[in-house]
Amino acid sequence: MSDCTFCKIISGEIPTEFLYQDEEMVAFRDIKPKAPVHILIVPKRHIEKLQEVSDNEKDLLGQMLLVAQKIAEREKIAESGYKVVVNCGEGAGQLVPHLHFHLLGGWK
Ligand code: AMP
Ligand code: ZN
Repeated sequence: MSDCTFCKIISGEIPTEFLYQDEEMVAFRDIKPKAPVHILIVPKRHIEKLQEVSDNEKDLLGQMLLVAQKIAEREKIAESGYKVVVNCGEGAGQLVPHLHFHLLGGWK
């Protein structure tokens, strides 16, 4: 998707530091953090939104949650608690039309 911000991040067109990367997904810090720790977990494949996901992607979704858990441990927010948020579609506030999980935490 040539004009998708997250596809550009994944391809390296927009230079971004990855906190995590594997064959299926990447994770990086949100540019406008809404919590002390705000990280985005993004599949490499362009899927617009959760509404478009099918049974074929159930492993991917499970892996994304496990990566959220792993990063939360690394960022030391696991014990204090964190949220994983998915905005599903424009009407729910999804601004970037490429599926992503928000990992939010680090509040005192
Ligand atoms: P959503 O509203 O769920 O689509 O969330 C999109 C998120 O992507 C927002 O929190 C933005 O701050 C974040 N964002 C947009 N562009 C970038 C970028 N270039 N690097 C990091 N985060 C970004
Ligand atoms: Zn994309």
